[in-house]
Amino acid sequence: MGKEKVVIVGAGLSGSLLAIYLAKRGIECDVYEARSDMRKVAMSAGRSINLALSDRGILALSEVGMDAYMLAEAVPMHGRMIHALDGSTKLLPYSGRQGEYINSVSRGGLNIALLNEAERHEGVRFHFGEECVGFDCATGEAKMGSGKVVKGDTLIATDGAGSAVRNAMLHGGVPRFNFSQRWLDHGYKELHIPPGPDGFAMEKNALHIWPRDKFMMIALANYDGSFTCTLFVAHKGANSFDEIDSGRYGGAGDREAALDAFMRDNFADVLGLMPGYRTDFFGNPTGNLGTVKCFPWNAGGRALLIGDSAHAIVPFYGQGMNCSFEDCRVLDKLIGVHGTDWASVFEKYSEARKVNTDAIADLAEENFYEMRDAVADPLFVKKRELETRLEQTFEGYFSKYSMVTFREDLPYSVARRMGNAQDAMLMDLCAGVDDVSKLDLAEVMRRVDALHSN
Ligand code: FAD
Repeated sequence: MGKEKVVIVGAGLSGSLLAIYLAKRGIECDVYEARSDMRKVAMSAGRSINLALSDRGILALSEVGMDAYMLAEAVPMHGRMIHALDGSTKLLPYSGRQGEYINSVSRGGLNIALLNEAERHEGVRFHFGEECVGFDCATGEAKMGSGKVVKGDTLIATDGAGSAVRNAMLHGGVPRFNFSQRWLDHGYKELHIPPGPDGFAMEKNALHIWPRDKFMMIALANYDGSFTCTLFVAHKGANSFDEIDSGRYGGAGDREAALDAFMRDNFADVLGLMPGYRTDFFGNPTGNLGTVKCFPWNAGGRALLIGDSAHAIVPFYGQGMNCSFEDCRVLDKLIGVHGTDWASVFEKYSEARKVNTDAIADLAEENFYEMRDAVADPLFVKKRELETRLEQTFEGYFSKYSMVTFREDLPYSVARRMGNAQDAMLMDLCAGVDDVSKLDLAEVMRRVDALHSN
């Protein structure tokens, strides 16, 4: 009997990591990617240049021996640097403990490193410029735009939020296929802060946030000394892309003047660091943000959706890639136990994973509101101060953010349930005091423990 062969559709972050995992198990992979080989052509701008890599993603990378390599060029981010409208800043640490931080990594750099690593395995073959345009759920055959028809022992779709394989499952391929897509009113635009004369123009070891109530901007440092900013604003209405593009913002009359006024009104403290903001704003695409949920994820043993193709989420918890890497890890473990009985592995995988990807999808939407308005709320700041004290004092205290981001041993669904209950209790406590240092930490911890033991 020959080796097991899997067709992977999409050589993005999940597809290239999955190829490594499968190759390590001696499974051959043919990976079909619509775009050209990113190692040979420049990537187009506008699709998050950098990403926050955290413990769930790092664990998966460590299992394929890629964590140290990736972290060598990562920029650690120890907390959120909040920029108020008056230009003042405040650092809210992610954790009161050492070693709990997230990492800014280059999307292209990570993808290229994974492609290179995958290609080192004899059984992995990449086919670039091959777009999957159809999938037959009955036969397991995938059709490429080039006319080629390909088939393996099974197919795993890692073709992202607009998945062609998922579309085939939805349009008659899989009976009773549930699908929902919910767009946020907000879109995003990438802007750039070049390196300053002495290196990084702002604190590099923080995720910068300019919360402005109904919209916000964030910035993450890049290894080369620059920052990538992402502006999240509504498509329509007040303070929107539409208001700027039509020149209506502030009654400016034309779009350049409207953008200048919008940036001056809201981001005056950083504008001087962004000499190219007009070119970036009008040159880069406006991205859409949405949540995709669907189920079942498999067409019997003939196909499985993983990563964004199964569960695209909004980026506000910095978990889309981390969750997709965790997908690969969970799938690999199940192959380790059940071998390549694909129908059975896919069923078990879906059963274990769906509740958790739903939880992170919901957490990510909830965090948008926290980042956009709550981080500037004095009650939220008080709660964060209390949590930092708890983390510094008690080994066993974890905030909701820490449970999601630094506790790769906790399923997302557990982190969400415990985190939400804990947040509600701590907000209540903080609302009743003007200074959190007056709270008896041991008593607070006792109440936290009691909450989780129920
Ligand atoms: P993708 O990365 O989308 O890869 C899909 C691949 O499939 C692509 O290479 C594509 O060209 C290819 N493809 C598509 N269709 C076809 C087809 N028909 N045939 C063949 N190939 C095809 N996540 C984090 O963890 N941390 C963050 O900080 C973070 N920030 C983000 C910021 C923004 C603005 C956005 C939009 C997302 C962010 N994410 C973040 C989420 C993260 O980008 C995704 O979760 C991750 O890229 C999912 O990986 P994937 O491989 O499943 O899909």
